Amino acid sequence: MYVVGMGRKYIVTRDVQNAPAEKSVLLVGAVETEDEVDELTAAGYDVAEQLHYPVAIATHDGFNVRDFGAVVVYAPSMDSSTGTGTALILQAEAHAHGVPVITTQSATDCAPCGTCRQYQTVSTARDASGAVVCVACFGDAPGCACGMDGVTEPVFLNGAWDVQCRRCTTITKAAFPSPWNVERDDAAAPADLFGIRA
Ligand SMILES: [Zn+2]
Ligand SMILES: [Zn+2]
Repeated sequence: MYVVGMGRKYIVTRDVQNAPAEKSVLLVGAVETEDEVDELTAAGYDVAEQLHYPVAIATHDGFNVRDFGAVVVYAPSMDSSTGTGTALILQAEAHAHGVPVITTQSATDCAPCGTCRQYQTVSTARDASGAVVCVACFGDAPGCACGMDGVTEPVFLNGAWDVQCRRCTTITKAAFPSPWNVERDDAAAPADLFGIRA
């Protein structure tokens, strides 16, 4: 593909990795160090939990952004002076191909859903009356791929967060053990294991 910027045209040729599921989002951010990859993976849990779509973690630039429903920019964005290559390339490609780009909002815009109290950190939506409404309470959550329409939760699988019902996550966690997958009833949420979430 072509990336046009700063008066120069680049041709980027590389192997690309497919999206983990038909409707997925790609989360881009700094991934130069192990800590940054952990932070981005932890953020991916929040994105999957709030948007209810599988979230691939862009640990490298070998993703075809056109396979994804949206690209979520955790940090840095193209505006950041500390931007790193992977995030910049994928965000530029998303813009070039008309793939929706969602930039995570500032902390001051975060708010709990008026119905279920789920804290909205990615993109807070409000109804006509100004009340915060999450994707699930809005009735827009796609549910689990198995057809169950009940409560879902993110589960880490092959470098991405999938969104599954309670029954499917139990099976996935047993079949694909990962330090990111712990029982939600435990005192620590998955990301707390890495000391990343407050
Ligand atoms: Zn809600
Ligand atoms: Zn299921």
